[in-house]
Amino acid sequence: MVKKSKLNRSEFSNNVKPSYNSKFSNNVKPPYNSKFSIDLYSLQFSQASYKDFVITGEFTDNIGNSLIKLDNTYPVKLEFTATNAKLGYYLKGKIFYKLQGQCSRCLAGLTDKTIINEFTAFFTEQNNKNEDCETYQLWGNIINLEPIIFDTVGSNIDYNPICGEGCKGLCSNCGVNLNTSFEHNC
Ligand SMILES: [Zn+2]
Ligand SMILES: [Zn+2]
Repeated sequence: MVKKSKLNRSEFSNNVKPSYNSKFSNNVKPPYNSKFSIDLYSLQFSQASYKDFVITGEFTDNIGNSLIKLDNTYPVKLEFTATNAKLGYYLKGKIFYKLQGQCSRCLAGLTDKTIINEFTAFFTEQNNKNEDCETYQLWGNIINLEPIIFDTVGSNIDYNPICGEGCKGLCSNCGVNLNTSFEHNC
């Protein structure tokens, strides 16, 4: 936790990208018992070559920094369409999640509204780079959605969040919240 007094602004100006967990590297099989691992085998034989999914689960890994991060106390939801494409599966959909964090200026807690991000992904067994979207490892017909959560949430987080455009921040002398102390003179 960040102390309210003696605030060092430089602590909050780091635009650190999340470091992706090595377990998502392409050399490691996905956890088959995870809610985020899905077998798309049935798509091989269905009349339509696509299927809609709604997957909700607890995501326990950290995404974010000390100031703002994925709120692990809420489940992450993915709604998407998986399409049986040449050499793999194409996914297009949305991720629903909440963030937990503080304003980078005044340290007030941020409202916990649900955030929605769109994503596209291509899962393939070979190294077929797809120009239009991120490419992920396919294991037989099994896909793991966790790298999509990491990439999508990680690249959409504002790592220097503010509670509002007009936030006055904290007094650099005494650390009082200038949004709530109107007659401050320091
Ligand atoms: Zn603020
Ligand atoms: Zn002051």
